[in-house]
Amino acid sequence: MRFRCRICEQDLLETTAKAACTYCGAEKVAEWLCPEGHHICETCRTSSAEDLIARACCFLQETNPLKAAELILRHTAFPAYGDAHHVLVAPVVLASLRNRGIDGVNEAVIREAMTRLRGIPACVCGTRGDCGAAASAGTVVSLLRKATPLSDAERSAALHATAEALCRIADHGGPRCCKQSMFDAIYSAWEHVKGLAGVDDLPVHACAFAGRLKDCKTTRCPYFA
Ligand SMILES: [Zn+2]
Ligand SMILES: [Zn+2]
Repeated sequence: MRFRCRICEQDLLETTAKAACTYCGAEKVAEWLCPEGHHICETCRTSSAEDLIARACCFLQETNPLKAAELILRHTAFPAYGDAHHVLVAPVVLASLRNRGIDGVNEAVIREAMTRLRGIPACVCGTRGDCGAAASAGTVVSLLRKATPLSDAERSAALHATAEALCRIADHGGPRCCKQSMFDAIYSAWEHVKGLAGVDDLPVHACAFAGRLKDCKTTRCPYFA
């Protein structure tokens, strides 16, 4: 029998050792293990995209939100395109800030972001001129600055984060790529977070899905490598 790692696609090796789940950290004796140490527990293996985001973002110690997003996107609960991408941006940015020791960013804040982002339909980029990934960037700023509809500068900052993410997504042209839109929104959110949390710029990102999706824009995409 031959199985492949769902994260890095290497052949799994038979084992009787204990392994920690790459997504949630749960430890259990494993039957198969990736040579890179990747392991997915039964709960994470059968999770919906949203449940997986919540579990992973509560556990992962990653400080680069682009890398955290890509690890989660490799899970089979994530289709090539769709609204699960909208919900992912804010949790990975917030989890990366928590992992950098930024005050006040915790599991409750991550779950609140997910609640706020539920229900934005897929494909609104083309039908409304909107994108849930961009709203995810605005949600990060809203939460960090405690914006409400009645706030002044805080509300403006949240709106700017969404607007700037939308401009980035628009500037990159079509057809839609939910991975590209997500990475765009993460960079836009991070631009705002830098001033608030004093974190460094994110490194240049190379997309692991480059050339593998039907509508990949290849060399027209800044994340294509
Ligand atoms: Zn692996
Ligand atoms: Zn797990």
